[in-house]
Amino acid sequence: MKFEIKNYIAGELIAPIASQYLDNFAPATGELYSLVPDSEAQDVALAVESAQRAFPAWRDLGAEGRSAYMLRLADVLERDIEKFALAESKDSGKPLSLARTMDIPRAIQNIRFFATAILHAHTETHDASPAMLNYTLRQPIGVVGCISPWNLPLYLFTWKIAPALASGNCVIAKPSELTPMTAYLLAELCQEIGLPAGVLNILHGLGGKVGEAIVSHPGIKAISFTGGTATGSVIARHAAPVFKKLSLELGGKNPVLIFADCEYDTMLATTVRSSFTNQGQICLCGSRILVERSLYERFRQDFVQEVQKLTVGNPLHESTRLGAVISAGHQQKILGYIALAQEEGGKILTGGKAVKPEGCENGWFVEPTVIEGLPYDCRTNQEEIFGPVVTIQPFDTEEEALKYANSVRYGLASVLWTQNLSRTQRITQAIESGIVWVNCWLMRDLRTPWPLALRFKTSSKESYPLILSKTFCGK
Ligand code: NAD
Repeated sequence: MKFEIKNYIAGELIAPIASQYLDNFAPATGELYSLVPDSEAQDVALAVESAQRAFPAWRDLGAEGRSAYMLRLADVLERDIEKFALAESKDSGKPLSLARTMDIPRAIQNIRFFATAILHAHTETHDASPAMLNYTLRQPIGVVGCISPWNLPLYLFTWKIAPALASGNCVIAKPSELTPMTAYLLAELCQEIGLPAGVLNILHGLGGKVGEAIVSHPGIKAISFTGGTATGSVIARHAAPVFKKLSLELGGKNPVLIFADCEYDTMLATTVRSSFTNQGQICLCGSRILVERSLYERFRQDFVQEVQKLTVGNPLHESTRLGAVISAGHQQKILGYIALAQEEGGKILTGGKAVKPEGCENGWFVEPTVIEGLPYDCRTNQEEIFGPVVTIQPFDTEEEALKYANSVRYGLASVLWTQNLSRTQRITQAIESGIVWVNCWLMRDLRTPWPLALRFKTSSKESYPLILSKTFCGK
């Protein structure tokens, strides 16, 4: 009998009403190790009723009251960090070291950040005339739906639910059916801290079934979604006719622009990370590496050498840098793109194959793969692969680099490596992406949802981060 994950509705951990379950596999071993509720519309209805009942009291608790519950939740999550990191690693195949240092700490930070941000929230007033004062009142909308993907399970799940809860909304949340475990464990912690029943409800199951039921339910006023672009479009089609508020964070095909004047060693080490962290399964990973021609040969040689040092292996081993990809189907998709790249004329410089690390022979692993020789507009360079696969291409001018960078239909993130401030200004304005990291990657300040992060080296060789509050418009 496999462990049965439960839904969290009205403060209780309960089985799905129809008692149907889905299989949950450990990607590193291929083991079927737990069962996930295959929830449906009737479970959503139950959860919405409980959230509607909970809403007035949660709203009226005020910012300090809600903040106190959330801070307690963050504290117990921090206490259990090792348990959650192990669960995340097993459920997703990612290295335990990554779950321990990135995923779970960021989940804790998400909850703490919004729990304290709400204490300092303020709104504008406009003193228009002696007889009139206009002000903006921010109020919770009621019951909201939060749907998250499998690549950073608890990290993105908490990023969605924390601001909604802090603002006084009650939440119906659905993690990915491929990585349900840490959301389930979080429900146990909500019980432990005595979070009022119905404030947070967690439903498990398939996107096309329980996910669509969440999106379609008339009692859910807003949807916050992170996931694939095609799914986002389906959700928008359901939500738009009934005028639900909608936040969609979707896919990417992010360029990395490397100029010859960059600080080489930092660039090289960071580009290895921005390519292959979490097996390349982060929407913000750079997958198209564009290198100024005068630096190209040196970069190619060093980059391939560094990539070959990355250990693909058992996620529980400290030396492992790449774990398993999420599923057998996703492994096949990635290998299919590697085959396509070769058909399109690409040359594999390293990687390209599935691997079976010792002790994980039935798991789903792919070597970190570097491909060169492809045109910027081929499918390999235009479509999101979402795996450990990058292409490298030389360019001669800024205009050419920008043309390649901006050629895709995505506009999520980009990375620029240069020490030239004028060039930085030109490129960060011309590049079509919501986030531009300059001389760094994945640095985030949660106060700026789409930050422009800059890091320059000073003449004294001290580097310092400078975060500009400039917001770029995505495509
Ligand atoms: P996905 O779109 O398949 O699934 C995401 C979530 O949506 C899951 O919980 C899934 O069950 C649910 N879902 C699927 N179909 C649905 C439907 N019709 N209605 C309602 N819910 C539905 O994405 P995924 O494969 O889990 O994640 C990978 C994708 O997520 C990649 O494209 C990646 O770029 C993107 N992503 C984006 C960001 C970002 O912040 N922009 C962050 C992480 C991942």
